[in-house]
Amino acid sequence: MNQFRFSRRPDIGDKVRVSFEFFPPKTDEMEARLWDTVTRLEPLKPKFVSVTYGAGGSTRERTARTVKRILNETTLTPAAHMTCVDAARHEVDAVVREFAEMGVKRFVALRGDPAAGVGTAYRPHPDGYANGAELVGALKDAGDFDISVSAYPEKHPESPDFATDFDMLKRKADNGATRAITQFFFDNDLYERYVEKARRAGIYIPIVPGILPVHNFTQVANFSARCGALVPAWLAERFEGLHNDPQTHALVASAVAAEQVLDLVERGVSDFHFYTMNRADLVFAICHMIGIRSHEAEAAGSAAA
Ligand code: FAD
Repeated sequence: MNQFRFSRRPDIGDKVRVSFEFFPPKTDEMEARLWDTVTRLEPLKPKFVSVTYGAGGSTRERTARTVKRILNETTLTPAAHMTCVDAARHEVDAVVREFAEMGVKRFVALRGDPAAGVGTAYRPHPDGYANGAELVGALKDAGDFDISVSAYPEKHPESPDFATDFDMLKRKADNGATRAITQFFFDNDLYERYVEKARRAGIYIPIVPGILPVHNFTQVANFSARCGALVPAWLAERFEGLHNDPQTHALVASAVAAEQVLDLVERGVSDFHFYTMNRADLVFAICHMIGIRSHEAEAAGSAAA
C-alpha cells in the first residue's frame, strides 16, 4: 500500500483553484448559517462563489439579495445562477440586467428543472429560452460575462444518450460558455471518461468536477436517484449504521470527499467546485488537505514551526 500517495505536496495549493456553491437562505436562522459559512470560507480565496436560483424564479429575490450581500460585504466574486423555467425571454433578460447593474460579472446558465418537478417532461415557456445553450447565447449578447454551464458525467436523466448530451454541451460551449461544472459524482473513472469523450466530441472548455461532501447520506442517496447520479455500493457501505451518529458520519464524509478530490488532483484536475450545502466544515477540511489555506492558518503554522 502506498500510504503517501495522497500526502500533501507543498506545491499543490498553488495549482488548485476552488469555487463554492451556496443556496439562498429561506429563514433568518438559515441566513445566519450561510453567513457563518461564507465568513469561514472567504479566507480560502475561492475563484468565485455561486448562488443557486430556484425553479421558476422562486428564489429570485433571495438569490439577488444573497448575491448583493456577497458583493457589498465580502471580497468574494459572486456568480448568479439563472434558469429559463417558466419565464419569457424578456423576463430572464430583465433579471440578467438587474444582476449586471449590481456588478455581477459571472453567471451559471441553466435550463432548470421542469416546473412540475424532476421526472416530469420539460416544457419551455412559449416565449422563453428553450435550454441552457440558448440562455448562454443571450447572456453573451448582453455582456462580456464569465459563463458556467452544467455537465453530466452520468448523462442528464432526460437525455436519451450521451451523444445528445454532448451535442447540448457543445452548443453551450460554442455559444460562449467559459466552463462547465459537473453534476456531483462519486466515481472518478466516470468523470475521466466523460472528459475524454467530451474532448473527442470537440468540446474544449474546462469541465470542472462538482464535489458534494456527504453531509447526510440518506438525503444524498435520495437526491442522487432523482438526478441520475450513481451511489456506488462502497459508498453506501461506508455510511452504513451511521444514521444516528453525526460525529462519525462527518468524519467519514470528510475522508470520502478528501479521497475523491486528492485522487482527482493525482489525475491532473486543478479546479474544483464544491456544493457546500451552506456548510463550511467539510469543505474547509478538504481544502486544507489540498493545500488551499487561509493566510491565518499558514501564519499560525509558520509561527509554531
Ligand atoms: P440543458 O443544458 O439545457 O440540458 C441538459 C440536458 O438535457 C442536455 O444535455 C440534453 O441532452 C437534455 N435536453 C435538454 N433539452 C432537451 C430536449 N428538448 N430534448 C432532449 N433532451 C434535452 N437547477 C436549478 O433550478 N437552479 C440552479 O441554480 C441549478 N444549478 C445547477 C448547477 C449545476 C452545476 C448543475 C450541474 C445543475 C444545476 N441545476 C440547477 C439543475 C439543472 O437545472 C437541471 O439538471 C436541469 O434538469 C437541466 O438544466 P441544464 O441547464 O443542465 O439543461
